[in-house]
Amino acid sequence: MMKKALALTMAAVMAASMTACGGSTKETTAAETKAADTTAADTSAADTTAADTTAAADGKVYKIATDTTFAPFEFENDKGEMVGIDLDLLKAIAEDQGFEYELVVAGFSAACTGMEAGEYDAVIAGMSITDERKEKYDFSEPYYDSGVGMAVNADSDIASYEDLKDKTVAAKIGTEGCSIADQYGFTINQFEDSSSMYQDVLAGNSVACFEDYPVLGYEISRGVAFKLPLPMENGNSYGFAVMKGQNTELVDMFNAGLKNIKDSGKYDEILNTYISK
Ligand code: GLN
Repeated sequence: MMKKALALTMAAVMAASMTACGGSTKETTAAETKAADTTAADTSAADTTAADTTAAADGKVYKIATDTTFAPFEFENDKGEMVGIDLDLLKAIAEDQGFEYELVVAGFSAACTGMEAGEYDAVIAGMSITDERKEKYDFSEPYYDSGVGMAVNADSDIASYEDLKDKTVAAKIGTEGCSIADQYGFTINQFEDSSSMYQDVLAGNSVACFEDYPVLGYEISRGVAFKLPLPMENGNSYGFAVMKGQNTELVDMFNAGLKNIKDSGKYDEILNTYISK
């Protein structure tokens, strides 16, 4: 009986110490060290990949992880296909540079922890290039400018952060939106994916959610009954990420391909497919 109670208490303590946004906070870093260590120990495997640079064109298939629902960057269309700006850019860049990849639809935090554990070679998931992430990841050149916004239900009275006092907000684990909500000290309901986060707000469990501004804008344009009462904050650009010092040839190819598709007009064509100007 005592033992069980103690175990429960410990579980509760652990849960409490994990609450600050998963992937991107100090608390989780300790838990993640294990995954990071595995990667370090795995260097031989990673090295083989890196040494195989020339194999990029002959046989190497990069495993590239992405998010599940992050429209218009990656999302499932009506036909059940994964589409979006990130995925079209990646496809065009891979074609331009002649490398092969397998796309893994993992979810944002799973994509990051999976890459840290050596399961994926890279992540493309509307990932903001932040100083904190630059300590462990190498990023491509920025390919899209973004920032975080606060969305509330269309009929909500909430118009400022002060209105969120003593209320619960929703955010996605490991994201910048979650870190911002955490910095303001809000009580956060955390979700693995954006759709569950939106549902929590629509259902009235949370009064607002913190998510990238262009993504919220896209959802609103598609009929989700949200509004954005405040301007965007914390502008950060998106980059394609690999683990620091690993798969450097892949980042180089991404950068070279990005430049080529910008020059050819393909980049604008892709953006215009999803975002009407
Ligand atoms: N841009 C945000 C970040 O990097 C969110 C990314 C995402 O949810 N896919 O944290």
